[in-house]
Order: sequence, then C-alpha cells, then structure tokens
Amino acid sequence: MAYITLTDINKIYPNGFHAVHNFNLEIEKGEFIVFVGPSGCGKSTTLRMIAGLEDISKGDFLINGKRVNELGPREREVAMVFQSYALYPQMTVFDNLAFGLELQGVDEDVIEQRVEKTAKILGLTDYLDRLPRALSGGQRQRVAVGRAIIRKVGIFLMDEPLSNLDAKQRVTMRSEITQIHRETGATTIYVTHDQTEAMTMADRIVVMKEGYVQQVGTPYDLYFNPVNVFVAGFIGEPPMNFIRTVVKEGAVRIGGKEIDLSFKLGEHLAEWEGRPVVFGFRPEAAILGEAEDACVLGGSVELTEMLGDNSNVYVTMKEDRVILKVDPHDTPETDSDITFSIPHKSIYLFDGETENVINV
Ligand code: ATP
Repeated sequence: MAYITLTDINKIYPNGFHAVHNFNLEIEKGEFIVFVGPSGCGKSTTLRMIAGLEDISKGDFLINGKRVNELGPREREVAMVFQSYALYPQMTVFDNLAFGLELQGVDEDVIEQRVEKTAKILGLTDYLDRLPRALSGGQRQRVAVGRAIIRKVGIFLMDEPLSNLDAKQRVTMRSEITQIHRETGATTIYVTHDQTEAMTMADRIVVMKEGYVQQVGTPYDLYFNPVNVFVAGFIGEPPMNFIRTVVKEGAVRIGGKEIDLSFKLGEHLAEWEGRPVVFGFRPEAAILGEAEDACVLGGSVELTEMLGDNSNVYVTMKEDRVILKVDPHDTPETDSDITFSIPHKSIYLFDGETENVINV
C-alpha cells in the first residue's frame, strides 16, 4: 500500500473555475515528488489540497490508507514551506524555530535540543539570536525550512521555496534541500515551475498542464521517454526541436532534405501516409557532419552562443529553425552552411493531431 494516495482529485473554485482535473498519484514513504508545469497549471492548488488549505472538490486523499479529506491542516501531520518564507518578523531565529513546538506543548529542554539540532543541519547555529530582517534571503529560507523539519512530521510540502533567491543561492539551497531530505527521510512534495529543480531533486516528477497531469515519471523517463510534445518540450534546456510536417510517400521533407521514416515507423509506415507528424530531436543529440544510422540535415547558421561548456547554434533550414548544442571548439561560423546528423535513436515522432508520441 502506498503511503499517500490521491484518487481522481478535482478542484473547482467557488467561481466555477475547474483548476485540477482527475489528479491520480500514489506516493511511497520517503519519496521526493516534484510537481512541475507552467504558471497556472494547478500545481499550488494540488499542493494546498494536500496541505488541507483548500477543500478537495471531488476525489479521495488517503494517508496510510486512511481517508483524510476532511481533516484540518494541523491534524494531517504535514508541514509546509511557502515561497514567502512566512517567518514571524518580531521573533528571533530561535523563537521562529521553536514556536510550532511550543504550541504543541513540547517540553522546554526538548525544544532547545531540537532547535540546536535543526540549526546545525541548516547552518544556522550562529544566527539563532537574530531577527529575520537581519538575515539574507538564503538564510531566511533556511529558517523557513527549519520550521518545517523541526516538527518531525511525515510529510513535507514546499511551494516554490527557492523562487525569491538569486541564481547562485538557488543552486546551493537545491542541494541542501536534497541533503536534508536524505537525512530526515520525510516524504516530500515540492512545487516548482523550474524544470532544472525538478530534474535535479526529484525521485519522480509530475508534469502538469492546464489542470491535467501529463506524465508521471523519473527524471530519466521524462527526458528519454516523453509521452507528448508538451512534456518533451518542457524537460530539457534548450528545449527539444520540433518540426511540424506531413508524411508523403513514406517520408518527410525537412529543410529540402527527404527523410525516409521507415527507420521509425517500420511496417506501420503506410498508416501514417498523408498525416501530420511532429519530428523532434534534442539540441544535444546533434552531431556536426554526416554520421551513420542517422538523419542527415543541413542549414545555415544564423547565430551562435558560446556558453563555455557548449555552444548553442541556431540553424535555419528553409522555413524551420532549430537549435543544436555542440562542443564549443567546433562552433561553426555565423552565416556558414553546415551539415549535421541526428542519430535515429534520438529522433522522436509525435502524432501531429493528438501531439502524443508515436511508439511503434
Ligand atoms: P503558479 O506557478 O503561477 O503559482 P500554479 O500552477 O501553482 O501556478 P495555481 O495557483 O494552482 O497554479 O492555479 C491554478 C489555476 O487556478 C489558475 O488558473 C488560477 O488562476 C486559478 N485559481 C487559483 N486560485 C483561485 C481561486 N481562489 N479562485 C479561482 N481560481 C483560482
């Protein structure tokens, strides 16, 4: 039995807006789950329903096999970290950490021990006497995380906890949260719109769009086996290249080159005749020059971006434009004509109507 079970969860706001549709997920004890998707896709709404801060309009929410739909936030044994930190400004770090335990009536010496231990895990020992306004954004975020972990609840919920931090602090806090998760073993559900956070932190990722779950899987699954154009385009940076085209005589024409699709569609090739498809490949799959067992394409270099560990090369191929990620030492000249290859195994084909991946 899963630790947390969400079955056909729906949220319809009082104004009639249907924000979450039939959300289904089983979470094992100790898992780190990330909800990811663009703004407004329903991530926070789902998390808030789990926290007990929003009613569940329809569906069942079970913890340890027990239906908890009607329980209030305090009775659910969950702790939540918000984007805004939500610290008490007039209380010191020590008191911010201790407050939840005091409310629970925990003994003073136990509180002291737990605050010290939590502060140590989070590197806050030297700041216990300070007020939040005398802390940096990263330190405040640590206090907010500390307030959640000090309660030793089984479920830890985080809503974009790193979004107020600068890029460098985000990278540091990202690995710290992963480390804290490893130490505490608490089941964690983490909301972000940042696919890098999702990929680096999650055991499993839930990709959402417009209130619907698109795919649930490990970072590896989502990167290598996306179920549709949306997931394929959401995971990966720069995003996957998509070329919309139509199958004609068993092939598609891309940038004036004819690509025979039998390597992908095999005996199903005839079924796709005359139908729209989306031809996809990741920028990092491109090999400059001609390669074996690959689709060979070509175009004109419009722009290059040297990023140090790689270069992004923007290539126009007649009406299509793609990005290739290449070794910086091989960066081609702007305005030059280049040939490049995409290994057959790195090519994705999606149904142009449903946008679902074609797996034959
Ligand atoms: P973001 O990353 O911007 O926080 P999100 O994926 O977390 O986005 P939600 O905050 O869950 O999105 O919102 C989902 C949808 O529900 C949005 O279209 C939002 O406008 C709508 N919504 C949120 N709260 C309410 C409310 N109280 N009443 C009506 N609609 C709401």
